[in-house]
Amino acid sequence: MGQALTVSYVRVVGVERITPRTTCVTFTGDALAELMEDRPDQQMKLCFPRAGQGVPRLPEPEADDTYGMRWYEAYLAIPEPERPLLRSFTVRGYDRRLDVMAVDFVLHGDDGPAARWGRDARPGDVLGMVGPSSLYARPLPAADWLLLAGDETALPAIGTLLESLPAGARALVWAEVADAAEERPLVSDGEVSVHWVHRDRGGSLPDAVRAARLPAGSGAAWLAGEAAAVRALRRHLVEERGLARKAVEFSGYWRHSLTQDDAPTEEDLAWAKEQAKEQAKEQAKEQAKEQAGE
Ligand SMILES: Cc1cc2nc3c(=O)[nH]c(=O)nc-3n(C[C@H](O)[C@H](O)[C@H](O)COP(=O)(O)OP(=O)(O)OC[C@H]3O[C@@H](n4cnc5c(N)ncnc54)[C@H](O)[C@@H]3O)c2cc1C
Repeated sequence: MGQALTVSYVRVVGVERITPRTTCVTFTGDALAELMEDRPDQQMKLCFPRAGQGVPRLPEPEADDTYGMRWYEAYLAIPEPERPLLRSFTVRGYDRRLDVMAVDFVLHGDDGPAARWGRDARPGDVLGMVGPSSLYARPLPAADWLLLAGDETALPAIGTLLESLPAGARALVWAEVADAAEERPLVSDGEVSVHWVHRDRGGSLPDAVRAARLPAGSGAAWLAGEAAAVRALRRHLVEERGLARKAVEFSGYWRHSLTQDDAPTEEDLAWAKEQAKEQAKEQAKEQAKEQAGE
């Protein structure tokens, strides 16, 4: 299941406003049962129709593209005015009995096509979906305790990560939301403490984590949300709290004033370069250890 990147249609079967700024949309689709895996943090891209299109036009699969990796070339081959808009989302849940997938849409405003679509979604509406695929799985680093931090866009992933924890696993969560009305239940068999950070009271993720007392023992972290906040958090955890670089999984989910179609900024590129350098250093260290027979 789930190695190749499959492009498929999904159809809305239900819409529920779970908080004032979040809508949970449930979908069904012919490929779902095959695509959905029993793992947390499944990411995919949703394809939104252009204005005037009822249903988005999807890239044609190529017969010899065994691993489904050429979908992007086929996507770019669609004439621009008909090409669907791509946005990244997380599978919040999948009910295998009903064959229904849930996706939470943050209604951040009217300037994003995905947020607008989520606001107006109705049963019967159709989107395209690329993935999910285990190629993009980000397994949690092993440690005595786990720190999960993110904003509303990361809550679907954090929800599934918490649900996957076994009894006895320890997790600390910092979740930044607009205000108290955006809080939602987070369920886990693990020992979890959840700290809600409210923007309407001047709170921010980096400040909240900086002020926190972290447990003794080895720690690992999973961070996602607004890109600058995620970078600040990651720097803090590695440089000031001493977490190993490879113990910190992080991902910028959106950027202030930029859409997901916009090219990387100078800062994005500098950051990517720094990450590539760090990864190369880590790999060289691992190789040296292997050669020394450690
Ligand atoms: C792997 C991954 C998984 C994700 N999972 C989810 C998910 O499950 N649910 C979800 O809602 N989002 C999720 N996101 C984030 C989502 O893809 C972005 O927020 C995306 O920009 C939304 O597209 P849009 O069309 O609404 O806005 P865009 O057209 O991309 O942007 C339009 C404007 O809105 C601003 N903007 C975008 N997102 C936000 C926000 N959250 N708050 C405030 N302003 C914003 C941008 O800065 C820009 O100015 C995920 C992102 C990634 C990379």
